[in-house]
Amino acid sequence: MSIQIPRGTQDILPGNVEKWQYIEAVARDICRRYNYKEIRTPIFEHTDLFLRSVGETTDIVQKEMYSFEDRGGRNITLRPEGTAAVVRSFVENKMFGNPTQPTKLYYNGPMFRYERPQAGRYRQFVQFGVEALGSDDPAVDVEVISLALELYRTLGLKKIKLVINSLGDYESRRAHRDALTKHFSSSISEFCMDCQSRLEKNPMRILDCKKDRDHKLMKNSPSILDYLNDYSKTYFDSVQQYLKDVDIEFEVDPSLVRGLDYYNHTAFEIMSDAEGFGAITTLCGGGRYNGLVEEIGGPNTPGIGFALSIERLIAALHAEGIELPVESMIDCYVATLGDLANQKSVSIVSQLRKAGLSVEKDYQGKKIKAQFKTADRLQAKYVVVLGDEELNRDVVNVKEMSSGEQNEVAIDSLVSHITDKLSRGEM
Ligand code: ATP
Ligand code: MG
Repeated sequence: MSIQIPRGTQDILPGNVEKWQYIEAVARDICRRYNYKEIRTPIFEHTDLFLRSVGETTDIVQKEMYSFEDRGGRNITLRPEGTAAVVRSFVENKMFGNPTQPTKLYYNGPMFRYERPQAGRYRQFVQFGVEALGSDDPAVDVEVISLALELYRTLGLKKIKLVINSLGDYESRRAHRDALTKHFSSSISEFCMDCQSRLEKNPMRILDCKKDRDHKLMKNSPSILDYLNDYSKTYFDSVQQYLKDVDIEFEVDPSLVRGLDYYNHTAFEIMSDAEGFGAITTLCGGGRYNGLVEEIGGPNTPGIGFALSIERLIAALHAEGIELPVESMIDCYVATLGDLANQKSVSIVSQLRKAGLSVEKDYQGKKIKAQFKTADRLQAKYVVVLGDEELNRDVVNVKEMSSGEQNEVAIDSLVSHITDKLSRGEM
């Protein structure tokens, strides 16, 4: 029996991978403009890192981690998200000591979660994310939100909306927590087992429950916004003011609580409201996590970031019918007629490639007609035809495929002939 791809994973094949490359190039360019630098951390980390940073009451830690013991008896986990490793690296490499703060980092790479696979939900997926560590200026919150939105907008998405909330500081959260405990405790037996244990450990996470979202107590649950202290309220007001200053529309949704334990103050999500996108509408999630660096053993350092998956981004593009301008054309196909021409084509192809062109030739001994068919299939802009007879005269035939125009060109000037035409935008 043949072996198949593991559930919840996908091959990204040529023809499709160009989209990924395009998106990743756009993301990199936006990071360059916002001055975020790339960081690459390992695919696996010590399991303890995620227990401490993602938090024991989250779905990720409770149900979704790919954890194993390695041959040396260490507890290892394939990373389920990016923030923990970035913060670990920030602390380990003492980036808090760098003269320029905040430290602004981005990552792009595979994450692993043992989930029930469905549209927009994979077991291996690629997250692009940024983290800004070392400033609690609300303008940084808005910078991070702008960066995420800019990626979606640059790629052409229109049907997206930004939803924000504040989770407040420690004091505000504690007051809210007490109110939630009071609100839910009398009827907690009507909730799922997860929520029953959340009531004690972290009642705010009940609000994020997917099973109990329609319970009547969810509708009138105490709003965090009524429990923000002065500092938290002022902070949230500044974030909203800056968003208005840079013309970003938003909704405030007090029920937005991110899954991870370490968030405080600003929390945000970017959702798609494109028709046909399906049940999963969250494209991007992020927020502030001022306690996390200390939790990982570093000095008290504020931080904020977001993560989004390329898979859901592509699904959103699809839902809005957006085709990315990816090119799969090649510049030149070298076709040959005769044995001598076939031998000579090896060096001609090499010269054209050295000049920076994308070039293909036949390696299957095909007839000239079949070679032209291949050139068509590859969408070659030019076909260079080498025939034994022409080679005796040191010339080749160059056919421009879009116009059908043909020219006899001296072999010595072939490279410049084609590069000139391409740079003039002819094809
Ligand atoms: P959800 O509520 O959909 O499970 P989450 O809260 O687990 O999302 P985060 O951990 O905040 O998601 O991850 C940030 C982003 O990563 C999500 O908004 C989504 O775009 C993407 N994402 C999360 N899990 C998956 C997955 N299994 N497959 C594809 N993308 C994912
Ligand atoms: Mg999840």
